[in-house]
Amino acid sequence: MRRAGPIARAQATQGLRLARNAPGCGQCAHAEPRQPAGAYNDLWRLHCSVGGFGVGAATTCNRFTVKEKPCSSKP
Ligand code: SF4
Repeated sequence: MRRAGPIARAQATQGLRLARNAPGCGQCAHAEPRQPAGAYNDLWRLHCSVGGFGVGAATTCNRFTVKEKPCSSKP
């Protein structure tokens, strides 16, 4: 088993992560699913209720709010 080097430890300490694993509109409480209107440049699958515009699962902004997960009835 390889030991983590000083750079890997520094990255882990700082919480460095891949952009695809960072919180984005796909996990935001302000994002709602939407149907694209059909225009050739209408690519957004989510609607931001704060900004009133289309967003993608990988976009994000300073108003990001964690979406609460529904409670499960099973323990
Ligand atoms: S643009 Fe900001 S506020 Fe709107 S859904 Fe995305 S992260 Fe949330």
